[in-house]
Amino acid sequence: MGGEVPFPTGDLMKGKRGLVMGVANKNSIAWHIAQQLHAQGAEMAFTYAGEALERRVRPLAESLGADLIIECDVTDDASMDAAFAAVKESWGSLDFLVHAIAFTDKTALEGSFVENTTRQIFKDTMDVSAFSFVDAANRASVLMKPGASMITLTYLGSERTIPNYNVMGVAKAALEASTRYIARDLGPKGIRVNAISAGPIKTLAAAGISSGKHMFSFNRKASPLRDDTEPRGVAGAALYLLSDLGLSCTGETHHVDAGFHIVGMPEESALKE
Ligand code: NAP
Repeated sequence: MGGEVPFPTGDLMKGKRGLVMGVANKNSIAWHIAQQLHAQGAEMAFTYAGEALERRVRPLAESLGADLIIECDVTDDASMDAAFAAVKESWGSLDFLVHAIAFTDKTALEGSFVENTTRQIFKDTMDVSAFSFVDAANRASVLMKPGASMITLTYLGSERTIPNYNVMGVAKAALEASTRYIARDLGPKGIRVNAISAGPIKTLAAAGISSGKHMFSFNRKASPLRDDTEPRGVAGAALYLLSDLGLSCTGETHHVDAGFHIVGMPEESALKE
């Protein structure tokens, strides 16, 4: 999966500079996206969420020629201030933003949504997983000119109930609605804002969901393509939305999930395969 086959090269992102938020390691969706954007000529800055992560993110970012690698906790205003000030000081402007950040307490990712979602868990999940995009988009937009573009990452648990996804599904619904409102507000400035709804991909974040194994195998069997979601497909969609190929597309939630989202009831034969 991902990484073994070279990402398609070209000039679609040549001359464009962007901030990538949410690389934790080489399995991160944001890392696949970053590699694809690099292969098309993008220059990128990266944020990481803490000292422990810097050890993993710095070598990855440097392998793509990045020298702007900034610590940033999205729940901390001072940390967000410092990160965007660093981008402004180094570059003065921004052409794109990749937001690939989510977090909730592990106890909320199993069993009953209604019983396991405390006030604090609800607030914290919304803060990291939905508000952080509103905040980052607002801060990025002042550095952007017409033609700039932003994306965030979401999941089908926003639209349908998915076992154990629980409060994260509620946060993803807020994230998708926020994407539409941000797109409305930034549209007159010529800035496009979209979400990619990816199918299950093996990352640190996905490992936190109970019964993840069942989720992967059910998605594979029930999806029209009878396949896993390829991170390269998500990276390709990101390239489309962040480059000028995506002209006129804004406010969209684009599914990249082997078609799983269109299935009301899977074929009986598919589940037996
Ligand atoms: P990942 O590699 O674990 O990335 C999640 C990122 O969020 C990590 O870099 C994490 O840093 C960061 N983060 C969490 N709290 C933060 C905070 N307070 N400040 C700054 N950064 C913070 O997992 P991923 O699967 O690639 O997730 C990226 C996005 O894709 C998420 O929005 C996720 O919901 C979405 N998505 C994932 C899947 C999937 O199946 N994997 C499917 C659809 C959508 P730490 O590690 O330090 O917490």
